[in-house]
Amino acid sequence: MTTALDPTPALPPVYWDAAVDQLALLADSDAGACVRLADELLPAAAAQRAGGAELRLRYYAAVAHQALGDDQRAMAQASRAAQLAAERGALVWQSRALARQGQVHHDLGQLEDAVDLLTRAAELRREAEDTAGTADVLTILGTVYTSMPHFAPQAAGVLTQARRLWLAAGDPDRASIALAHLARTFVESSRRLLLDNPRGAKAAARRALALALESVDEADAAGLSRTSVDARLTTAVAHQLAGDAASAADVLDAAEDMLDRFPSTQQLLTLRRIRADLLLSIGASAEAVLEARSAMTLLDELTRPAERMELLRVLADSHEDLGQIPEAFTALRELHQLTVRLGDAQAGRRAALLGARMEIEQAERQAEAERRRSEALEERNAALAHQATHDGLTGLANRRALDAELAQRAADCAPFTLALVDIDHFKRVNDTWSHQVGDAVLVRVADVLRRALRSGDRATRYGGEEFAVVLEGQPPVEVCERLRATVAALRWDDLMPGARLTVSIGVACRRPDEPIAELLARADAALYRAKADGRDRVCPAA
Ligand code: GH3
Ligand code: MG
Ligand code: MG
Repeated sequence: MTTALDPTPALPPVYWDAAVDQLALLADSDAGACVRLADELLPAAAAQRAGGAELRLRYYAAVAHQALGDDQRAMAQASRAAQLAAERGALVWQSRALARQGQVHHDLGQLEDAVDLLTRAAELRREAEDTAGTADVLTILGTVYTSMPHFAPQAAGVLTQARRLWLAAGDPDRASIALAHLARTFVESSRRLLLDNPRGAKAAARRALALALESVDEADAAGLSRTSVDARLTTAVAHQLAGDAASAADVLDAAEDMLDRFPSTQQLLTLRRIRADLLLSIGASAEAVLEARSAMTLLDELTRPAERMELLRVLADSHEDLGQIPEAFTALRELHQLTVRLGDAQAGRRAALLGARMEIEQAERQAEAERRRSEALEERNAALAHQATHDGLTGLANRRALDAELAQRAADCAPFTLALVDIDHFKRVNDTWSHQVGDAVLVRVADVLRRALRSGDRATRYGGEEFAVVLEGQPPVEVCERLRATVAALRWDDLMPGARLTVSIGVACRRPDEPIAELLARADAALYRAKADGRDRVCPAA
């Protein structure tokens, strides 16, 4: 809906759907362009309250920011998207946005936060009965667990579930990928057990091998080249951990053949790193050095610091085995520098993220304070407006409001009647009982008038001890007579023991097109007659 504040006309949902599709495409193919387009579209989406579009735009902006390594903005966009999705009850999008936040935390090495967010994301997908989506989130969660020491059982658990769900969702390809991940969790467990529990390490390696071989078969059958290579790499490591270096070498050769046909720098790098480690383990240190150095040339230090550190460790060990102490030292020094730099970089990213979070919270606090201020201002304005049109003592509308009301009714051309009600001998009340009692009497008479009237009628304090009552239509004189009688019947024992109070009323029905001043004058003259005729009576105007 367009409000007066919108600078642009509302765009139809199809426009936003197309925009979101385009953004989704760019998030995968050109993150920079995706971010620029999102920045352009978001203000309009927010201004037009296109909430569904806004949250999807923010989600893809988060994906692109993450791809560009801008954790803060990725986190800010994803968390706003999650909030908007929650407000709209859009479970799947809320899950996506939470999972995205989880992945950013994973990038930052904040694994516990990543696990929390991904677990919630998986629950939401389950709630939405989105089987494939649940499997997807569980697969990501599984890879996070895999990178956490001591969480191998959890990793295996969620990846097994993910595989089952992929099969249930009719997606055997993704099921094979989950299986390859699963095999890797056993590889990781075996590695960790190596020092303290060699038998456990062997058992884990055998399990890893069985799963890895199964996933090789599945991936080959499905023609998933990338997964086939990954599965072979996992198989090679499992062979090595199981103590079968020869089979490990064969599988690596087979994987390298595949990579000739389906090149991937990342996979080739991992292959060389695994082979260097294998060569080192069988005492072929010189070959290990060559393999590691060739891997180094593939490496982009910024994007794959973990791989580089692995390689530096293999290099240092190999050179040491070969008695090449200066080379070993050089590798170790670089490994140390990288560790420190990586720690610094990670600390820096965390600090920046915390800063961004503080800014968001501060902005939220400011918005809240602003909202409160404007609420208070509105209340104050309403109070001032009330004060300007109401009498402070009785709470009735005042003379100014009466003037406005009479003008309005005259403009509406509907018939109405004006009754002026004046308390008889009110001066005596003040003189006999005090001014305070006089005030209390005014309040009570005002209440009587207020309660006696129909919804379309209005009582106002005309001045002093005089009230003006505006009545809809041309009611019979009995209406005013009843008012008079009600006041006359009041008991005043609490304020003025033994006293009686009466009013005189002059009534005038407005004539067609009669000026308000004339109407007032006729009512006033009628009131004057009521007084002159002895008070405590109603007198219709001439
Ligand atoms: P009448 O029957 O002719 O109307 O006599 P009256 O005494 O009611 O009329 P008069 O105009 O002589 O006196 C009105 C008195 O009302 C004078 C004034 O002090 C008193 N008065 C006006 N406004 C207030 C008020 O807000 N509180 C109190 N306690 N007295 C008020
Ligand atoms: Mg009076
Ligand atoms: Mg008077």
